[in-house]
Amino acid sequence: MAAISVIPGDGIGPEVVESALGLVDAFGLGLDVDVLDHVGADRYRREGVALGEADLARVAASGAVLLGAIGRPDLEHTGYVRDVLLELRYAFDLYANYRPVRLWHDRLSPLRDPARRALDCVIVRENTEGLYSGIGGNLRASSDHEVAVDADVNTRHGVSRILDFAFATARREVCLVDKANAVRAGGRLWQECWRRAAERHPGAATRHLYVDAAAMKLVTEPERFDVIVASNSHGDILSDLAAALAGGIGLAPSASLNPESGFGMFEPVHGSAPDIAGRGVANPFACLLTAALLLRHLGHDTEAAATEAAVAGSIAAGRTTPDLGGTLSTREATRAVLAAL
Ligand code: ATP
Ligand code: MG
Repeated sequence: MAAISVIPGDGIGPEVVESALGLVDAFGLGLDVDVLDHVGADRYRREGVALGEADLARVAASGAVLLGAIGRPDLEHTGYVRDVLLELRYAFDLYANYRPVRLWHDRLSPLRDPARRALDCVIVRENTEGLYSGIGGNLRASSDHEVAVDADVNTRHGVSRILDFAFATARREVCLVDKANAVRAGGRLWQECWRRAAERHPGAATRHLYVDAAAMKLVTEPERFDVIVASNSHGDILSDLAAALAGGIGLAPSASLNPESGFGMFEPVHGSAPDIAGRGVANPFACLLTAALLLRHLGHDTEAAATEAAVAGSIAAGRTTPDLGGTLSTREATRAVLAAL
């Protein structure tokens, strides 16, 4: 059984995955890696399938999967991305999207006030239901009376388990974000599950914010947050806001987890970035920080912390790709991190 299965994917995916695999290799942990090079847009175009049963079996036989990026502009309106990402998400029931947000260097903060830079929080996003359930449709389509409906699906099971995960993740506080004052039925369910989850986890402090207030407070007092838990759509939006506060998408790692099985999919928050793909300038740090999450998940805490420190050191020394103001290529920035190790 391979310790890690790897789907490099499209665009800059293979470029940043190469960096991450170089990092894992440098630690000499003897981790067996199974690379699924063929999963991607070319195969989807040829065969109409990007991720087959045999691929899923290989992924299932590993302890975790590292994914670069999936997406190609000319396949945007096909089922391609959903096919791969949702297939993986549902096959392994990866309901907990875990997005740590840390400001690795003051220089990267868009906020002027130094007190606002002690940013170190985690966004826990529900990954399998909510507004992105795909249930809905267009009534009287193309007429002047067209009505478009997208169902916001929340189940007691789904809400309870993501709240439990948030409490298990908290160091000092869990902040529930919702819009229960305007979206009533789902709001009621989240609020009730929230009260029960808080009773099950008396250790952590709790806080509740409506999503509009949460967006404001992430900018005005980001240092106050520890764990933020939110539905699929709210978590999606807030995590991009938080990523921007921490230096941008080139630095944001994520994991989609099933805490019960212990299986996880690890991927940088950014996509395939077709505008810079093939030029060797993609920032590898998001994928290196993603590899750090993966290493920690597999029990290699020392290596994970060393990776994070080396990335922070490279940023401090200005040894970065152009998106962070540096002049290095993807490979040079990766070497800078490896040298700092
Ligand atoms: P996808 O459809 O795969 O999500 P996208 O067009 O949404 O791709 P993203 O990858 O999300 O693109 O990137 C958005 C912007 O951020 C692009 O301009 C891209 O070049 C930039 N970007 C994303 N990732 C990186 C990175 N690792 N290094 C530098 N720039 C990046
Ligand atoms: Mg995108």
